[in-house]
Amino acid sequence: MTKALPKPLLLIDVDGPLNPYAAQRERRPEGYATHRTHPSDWTGVKPLRVWLNPAHGDELRALADAYELVWATTWKGEANDWIGPHLGLPELPYIDWPQMHGRAPRGTFWKTRYILEYAAGRPFAWVDDDITAYDHEYVEQNHLAAALLLHVDPRLGLLRPDFDRLADWAAAL
Ligand SMILES: [Mg+2]
Repeated sequence: MTKALPKPLLLIDVDGPLNPYAAQRERRPEGYATHRTHPSDWTGVKPLRVWLNPAHGDELRALADAYELVWATTWKGEANDWIGPHLGLPELPYIDWPQMHGRAPRGTFWKTRYILEYAAGRPFAWVDDDITAYDHEYVEQNHLAAALLLHVDPRLGLLRPDFDRLADWAAAL
């Protein structure tokens, strides 16, 4: 008897991949819309501005056949309030980080070990602007299943070829 394997996870960071926060300040990148948000931990006087591209929503929905989509962002569950609706995404599960920022093993980004705990041996793709060679090495050594760590330039956000790469990777599993 064969058991259907679960889909790989697609772990999605918001700031960087979906919100290219490092793009030039006064020049909203083409295709993006400006949204003013009020996440609960935001202490600024003015609302927090994010740029979001509705085409990303189309691309992510298209990947939902191949992947289980999960938020992997400091927005945690509030991505479902402030981000997902602008992209036409349904409510998604999210990683509830035990702690954010701070020390992490062997030069890795603070998210990386929690990503592995969440994945619990399941294949995953992860898009984030903070992935470095240390994270690649750590995942290689500590995660037995397949993993795609896709670094995204926070000046550019996710680009069309990134979605092809994600689709191809899942299809090749
Ligand atoms: Mg980020």
